Amino acid sequence: MDKKTIKDIDVKGKKVFVRVDYNVPFDENQNITNDTRMVRTLPTLNYLLDHGAALVLACHIGRPTEAREPQFSTKHLVKHLSELLKRDVQWASDCVGPEAEEKAKALKPGEVLLLENLRYHKEEKKNDPEFAKQLASLADVAVDDAFGVSHRAHASNAGVPKYLETVAGFLMEKEINYIGKTLENPQRPFVAIIGGAKVSDKIGVISNMIDKVDTIIIGGGMAHTFDAAKGLPIGDSLCEPDKYDLARELLKKAEDKGVKVVLPLDLKVANMFPADKKYATEGKTKIVDVDKVEDGWDALDSGPKTSEAYTKALEGAKTVIWNGPMGVFEYDDFAGGTLAVAKAVAKATENGAISIVGGGDSVAALKKTGLTDKISHVSTGGGATLEFLEGKEMPGIAAIADK
Ligand code: AMP
Repeated sequence: MDKKTIKDIDVKGKKVFVRVDYNVPFDENQNITNDTRMVRTLPTLNYLLDHGAALVLACHIGRPTEAREPQFSTKHLVKHLSELLKRDVQWASDCVGPEAEEKAKALKPGEVLLLENLRYHKEEKKNDPEFAKQLASLADVAVDDAFGVSHRAHASNAGVPKYLETVAGFLMEKEINYIGKTLENPQRPFVAIIGGAKVSDKIGVISNMIDKVDTIIIGGGMAHTFDAAKGLPIGDSLCEPDKYDLARELLKKAEDKGVKVVLPLDLKVANMFPADKKYATEGKTKIVDVDKVEDGWDALDSGPKTSEAYTKALEGAKTVIWNGPMGVFEYDDFAGGTLAVAKAVAKATENGAISIVGGGDSVAALKKTGLTDKISHVSTGGGATLEFLEGKEMPGIAAIADK
C-alpha cells in the first residue's frame, strides 16, 4: 500500500488520536445490538496499546443536532469498549475543550480516553479548520481506522491530517488493500454481482464495474428496471420507469465493452408483499419465467434457473465483488436467490478467488446466509464502500500520509 500505516511509525510514549467508526446500532435501552464495527478496530487499538501508546478515540453516533440528543452520546459505548479492550476506558463529555484537553494530557501509556460524539459539533461535518486543530491538539500523531466515513471530508478524518501526521489503522489498510487494489489490478475472470432495491442508488457502481469486469450479474429489485426497459412484463414488481433510458445505456455500454450481463431467467413472484398483514394467511408465491410476470404479482426473489445461471457465471471467477441482495432476503420465502449467490461466491473463494462483499444491505444479507466467514473480505463501509466501488475519490483516504 502506498499509504503509511501504524507499522510505519513509532508510537512508544505517544498520544495517538484514533478516528474509529463506532456508529453501531442500539436497542431502545441503549444496548449495542451489533458490535462488529467495534470488534474490527481491536487489532489496531491493541497494537497501539501493546506498543506503548495512549489512545484518544474519536467517533460519531447517528445524526445528532446541536441539541445533543442524549441517545447519540458515546458514553453508551464505554462499558462495552472497556470489556473488549480488557481495561478501563475514560470518557470526556465533549470532544474538544478543557475537559478533553486535561484528560488527554493526563493519559499514560496503555490508557484510553473516548471522546464525546464528534457530530455534537456542526464543525465536524463542515471540516472546520479550527475544530480540526483543536482535535489534533489532543495528541502527537493520528490514526484513521474509520473507513466507513472515508467518503466524507470531515474535520476528524480530512481536517486533522493538516495538523498531525495521520496513518492508516489495520482496518483501513485492509479496506484499501482489498477494494482499492482489486479494482486497480483484478485477477481475471472478474465478476461483479449487483443487487438490491434500486438502480438509482447504484448507477455509479454498475457503470464503474462495467469498465472493469468480465461479467456483471444484475439481480434483486433493480433487475426489473432493466427487464422493463427491454420490454419484458414485470407485473407489480419494483421498478423505476424514469431509469429505462439509463438501463438501456448501461446494457449498451456492457455490450460495447464485451462485458457479459447476466439478468434473471425466472423469478419468484408473490401476490402481495410479505410485510402485508394478510400475507401469512392469503399470501401465495410461484415461480415464473422472466417473460411471464403477470399484473397483480410482485417479483421478490430470483428463481432456480436464475440461481443456476448466476452460479455458472461465478464458476472459475478469480475476483468477485458483491453488492446488494438478490431478493427481499429479510423474509425466508424470498432469501433463496441470495443464499444461492452466497454459496456460489463461497465456492469461488474456496477455489482461490478473492471475494469482497460490502455496501448497503449486503453485509446483512450475507450474514443471513451464514456464509460470512467464507468471504475474503467483508467491508465495514456502507456508503463508503459504494463510493469506493464507484471509483470516486475518497477524501478520508487521500488525507492519510503517503509512504
Ligand atoms: P440495498 O441496500 O440497495 O442493497 O438494497 C437492499 C434492499 O433491497 C433489501 O431491503 C431488499 O429487501 C430489497 N430488495 C431486493 N430485491 C427486491 C425486490 N425484488 N423487490 C423489492 N425489494 C427488493
